[in-house]
Amino acid sequence: MAPWRVLLVSTPIGALGTGLGGGVELTIANVARALGGRGHHVEVVAPAGSRADGAALHEVGGAPPPSAQREGRDAPTRIPPDSLLANMFSLARQRQDDHDVLVNFAYDWLGFYLTPFFSTPLAHVVSMGSLLDTVDAALGAVVRDLPGRAACHTHAQAATFAFGDGLHVVGNGLDLAHYEVGLEPEEALAWVARISPEKGLEDALAAAARVGLPLRVFGVVDDEPYWEAARRRYPGAVVSYEGFLPTERLQAELGRCQALLVTPRWDEAFGNVVAEALACGVPVVTYGRGGPAELVADGETGFVVEAGSVPALVAGIERVGELDRATCRRHAEAAFSLEAFGDRLERWLAPQVDGP
Ligand code: UDP
Repeated sequence: MAPWRVLLVSTPIGALGTGLGGGVELTIANVARALGGRGHHVEVVAPAGSRADGAALHEVGGAPPPSAQREGRDAPTRIPPDSLLANMFSLARQRQDDHDVLVNFAYDWLGFYLTPFFSTPLAHVVSMGSLLDTVDAALGAVVRDLPGRAACHTHAQAATFAFGDGLHVVGNGLDLAHYEVGLEPEEALAWVARISPEKGLEDALAAAARVGLPLRVFGVVDDEPYWEAARRRYPGAVVSYEGFLPTERLQAELGRCQALLVTPRWDEAFGNVVAEALACGVPVVTYGRGGPAELVADGETGFVVEAGSVPALVAGIERVGELDRATCRRHAEAAFSLEAFGDRLERWLAPQVDGP
């Protein structure tokens, strides 16, 4: 196959490397690595101040949109003056003739709506489950009118959309060489996410307090009042806030923990942190909803427990000692290697690049 020239269009929620964009930041880096590793030429359009790990970067300024998680389902699409997202798509349009395919990662109305107006195929990796009616309507039109253009990470994520059968599931990938297995954990649990209500930190605090293990919290504080309130509510939990760490340091810290707790109040699209924990040999105790539940082999690489139930979470934590950390790593290698991810991405994009 001749190498492709691929332009990735990032999320406008935060600059790459800040953590505000959530898992999509690591996903974009890994898509760039997976396609670059197969000889394709990859460039990235992203908010000013981004870091792109070697891929050629086009930085764009402007005002970010509101975060989809904070909006009501029926909220209209709001586009601020000097819209960052509009500026990113203007740049993508100007550069489209230099590329064989454009891949958008923003779950926003504008990119989906603009799809048929581009002359170079604009494809989409949908980075969230269904959240907003206006966005879903525009994405639904892409799925209906341009079959194959849109992909997502898990079957659970696809099932949140009325047109989920039309989404191509590509999973995700990690550069496993960056993750070391920690075979001898300390007496501590990990919780890794943006600190924001949809991530359900309070349940992890409640469970950690009940089992009497310290909880190490990693991630950007996205919602300060929520973070303060959650800590006040569980004074019995021994919590240490470790900050937002770059992958290299995060994986080293994760590898020292007995288990990762995943306690979302929404349907996560994938759950990069689950793949990362398994790559470090760390079992995952997760609520049984969304992508994370699809990534954990119950009783083998972790426990998938009733969503929203702290007692179920506690029961899972109490059994993690039964699990083999080397098995967790092997599962990560089988499911999330960059080679396999590159294969899946090529299979998805080839018909778009080659045309009908
Ligand atoms: N993360 C990080 N350092 C930290 C905490 C989190 O780099 O200290 C990254 C983590 O590697 C993952 C992302 O933040 O890629 C969280 O992504 P996830 O898919 O779990 O959730 P999202 O925020 O997209 O809902």
